[in-house]
Amino acid sequence: MKNKSFVYVLFLFLIFSCSEKEKTAKNSEPKPSITILIQPFRDINPKKVESVTEGIKKVYPNIKVLEVIDFPENAYYKERNRYRADSIIKFLSSRTKEGFVTIGLTSKDISVTKGKIKDFGVMGLGYRPGKACVASDFRLNKENSDEQFYKIAIHELGHTQGLPHCPEKMCFMRDAEGKNPTNEETDFCKKCKTFLISKNWKFNSI
Ligand SMILES: [Zn+2]
Ligand SMILES: [Zn+2]
Repeated sequence: MKNKSFVYVLFLFLIFSCSEKEKTAKNSEPKPSITILIQPFRDINPKKVESVTEGIKKVYPNIKVLEVIDFPENAYYKERNRYRADSIIKFLSSRTKEGFVTIGLTSKDISVTKGKIKDFGVMGLGYRPGKACVASDFRLNKENSDEQFYKIAIHELGHTQGLPHCPEKMCFMRDAEGKNPTNEETDFCKKCKTFLISKNWKFNSI
C-alpha cells in the first residue's frame, strides 16, 4: 500500500515537471510580429499613401493598407478647422485588434493639448507604447513633403513600438520641439535600430 502511493506521487510529480518544462519552452519562443495597418482618411491623396507605405515596407514588410474612412465626428475642432489627434488615436485604437498597430494618414491639420496650449498644431502623434498613431502632412514643406511625411510616420510608429525621443540630431526619433527638423534626420540611429530589430523590424545595415 505504501509503495503504491509513492508511485502515484512520483507519477504526479513527473506530470507536473513536464508541464512546467512546456511552459518555459513556450515563453522562450519569439513573439509573432505585429501587422502594421495603414489607415488613410478620406481627404488624403492616394499617391501620398502609396509613397509612405513603400517607405515603411522597406523596414517593416508586414504591412496592410485599409480602405479610406471618415474622421470620427468628435475629432473635429471647429474653431480652428483642425482635427484632434488624441481623439483620432482613441478612435483608431478602438478598431485595432490584438497583434496590430494602426497609423492614420491625413492632409488635414491635426492638434493636441500641449501643456498650457489648449490646441497645438502637430505633424503627428503616437503614444508609447500604443496600438495607434496618426501623421499629417499639413505642416510639411511642399518641396519634399513625401520624404518628410515618411519620416513623421516612421517616428510615430517608433513611439507605438516603445521608442522614446532620441537625443541624436540625425535620428527619426528626434523630438520636433514644435518645429520641423525632418530635413536633418537621415535614419534611425544605431540604438533605436537595435531596439526596433528586437521588435522584428528589418534594416539592411546598423
Ligand atoms: Zn515624438
Ligand atoms: Zn535614435
